Amino acid sequence: MQIIDGHNDLLFRLWQKEPAAAVSEFVDGRNVGQLDMPRMHDGGFAGGFFALFVPSNAEQAHVYQTLNPPPYAPVDLATARKAMDEQIEVFEALVADVPNDGFRHCLTAGDMKAAMRDGAIGAILHMEGCEAIGADLSGLDEFYDRGLRSLGPVWSRDNVFGHGVPFAWPSTADHGDGITEAGKALVKACNEKRIMVDLSHMNLKGFWDIARLTSAPLVATHSNVHALTASSRNLTDDQLRAIGESRGMVGLNYAIDFLQNDGSMDRNIPPERLIRHLEHMIKIAGEDSVGLGSDFDGATIPLFLDDVAGLPHLVNAMEAAGFGTALIEKICHKNWLRVLELTLGK
Ligand code: ZN
Repeated sequence: MQIIDGHNDLLFRLWQKEPAAAVSEFVDGRNVGQLDMPRMHDGGFAGGFFALFVPSNAEQAHVYQTLNPPPYAPVDLATARKAMDEQIEVFEALVADVPNDGFRHCLTAGDMKAAMRDGAIGAILHMEGCEAIGADLSGLDEFYDRGLRSLGPVWSRDNVFGHGVPFAWPSTADHGDGITEAGKALVKACNEKRIMVDLSHMNLKGFWDIARLTSAPLVATHSNVHALTASSRNLTDDQLRAIGESRGMVGLNYAIDFLQNDGSMDRNIPPERLIRHLEHMIKIAGEDSVGLGSDFDGATIPLFLDDVAGLPHLVNAMEAAGFGTALIEKICHKNWLRVLELTLGK
């Protein structure tokens, strides 16, 4: 089964390697991290959103070791800009140097379909937290010209555009005010340029501000169900309903933080737990608005998956739960293709 995925942190993991070393590690597959090309092909990973991300500082780079990390410090424009530029260089090296055009930069839904047809990895460039863009939106055009087609205004910290939701369990996303005037301008500019706006790290008030403002479907690329796992990063039923009503999308996140419900970081989470999250999303948002959003290379994930090569175990669990072939195809790639068409264009 071919899978389009809502979120991964491969570029962040490969950052600071020389581009040539990054390409060879990705192509050869050295069982480092959760993603490389051989394991992607084994798992049926056809493509998805590849995030650019800047950590708050070195000590805070490893986000997922605890359910309740301390708040993350803000990042300044110059630091963020440098990190984004370097990660885009890694991305461009993958596009240029992976043999046989095997890693494709996708700007539209059509590009993704072509990559799937040809057995290449299709990659949409995403920015997770927009500290690298000025409050006057300086830099946005330049990133667009380099192929950025998706962004989350905030990661889980505050910036000039709004308030990110800090990681916490048990907790909610009701933290801080709505988006700023700069945030509103950013969302409008994204609508005009057909850049997808990702709401996964947005706080509650910011989510509803954007829901009122945007002309595009609401998308949370990598978030789960708050009613099942009371993480601040998960979505309430009202949010899931709004996503469905806008013909948007929610992508199932495999991070155990957002799946567990006992306060532990135990990796022995069974596939049925992920199925329960999917079933709840389908019940509230509808079966056309649910897909996958792994968080590979950015999260601690259940043992049964282990890495991207484990994806068939999740597909098998969908079958075992009685999901029919048509529904499984929607969850695995058709819904993402539909939303890509509505946001980025054909
Ligand atoms: Zn994230």
